[in-house]
Amino acid sequence: MSSTKVDAFPQNNLTWKILDDATKGGYAVGAFNCYNNDGVMAVIRAAEAKRSPALIEIFPWTMHFQGAHFVRYIVEAAHAASVPIGVHLDHCMDPADVDLALTLPIDSIMVDASRLEPEANIKYCRRITELAKERGITVEAEMGRINGGEDGIPDAGHLEEILTDPQHAAEFTRRTGVHFLAPSFGNIHGPYPEGGSESYWQLDRLKEIADALGPSTPLVIHGTHPVPDWLFRKAIDIGARKININRNARDEYTKFVAENAGRLELTALKEQSVAIYQKSVEELMDVLGSSGQAS
Ligand SMILES: [Zn+2]
Repeated sequence: MSSTKVDAFPQNNLTWKILDDATKGGYAVGAFNCYNNDGVMAVIRAAEAKRSPALIEIFPWTMHFQGAHFVRYIVEAAHAASVPIGVHLDHCMDPADVDLALTLPIDSIMVDASRLEPEANIKYCRRITELAKERGITVEAEMGRINGGEDGIPDAGHLEEILTDPQHAAEFTRRTGVHFLAPSFGNIHGPYPEGGSESYWQLDRLKEIADALGPSTPLVIHGTHPVPDWLFRKAIDIGARKININRNARDEYTKFVAENAGRLELTALKEQSVAIYQKSVEELMDVLGSSGQAS
């Protein structure tokens, strides 16, 4: 980055701008995990149809299995949309993934060093944030440790869940310089056990974390499979600004593909399944309040 660009950072970063606008407007933006081109098309089409900002989220798996060219295609397609769509790399656990990510034109990354002890997590996140800044990339970090796993993230089941301490949250963001914080407040990756997210999420803790951080650090919610609409709205009222959505956005799509693969021509299968995927994404944009917010 040139010195002028560094001076304007992070305000000139797309993910930062999308989430800063969400903070000012009191809504949240979906970060939709995409594994293939159908997902990328569905999110872009939904965002344009709803005039909604959005984030396309990929895992390091995409960098490895589909490669750097595919990541560049996602970024080019997202940035060519008529509404703001940023590209975020979720759950970078391996330092080599961070190194690879910083060579790509993505907007933001999540550093997941939650397996480390708290002090080591702070040091690691600070170093990555400094490196990422040189590339104009903003950083999300997980503080504490969120339980469970989902497609693309190994299950942290052998490690104990660590809930985010609100008193330490502000110190963590100040010392690391991370831009967005993913707290652990009872949320779980992957399907919730009996009782659902409504019996696991500790909204009081989320509120204390939000109050400790203030509006300059948008909160990111992981572990949303599934979450009732009213609970999303409560979390947004508290200060959730980036909401990671994985299975909820693609269950209808997966079901359609499973029932029609081999029956329809590939062109028809793709057109119809992307349309179904798009509709699911649009419904979630309405729930999160991002529909109509793109200028
Ligand atoms: Zn996550």
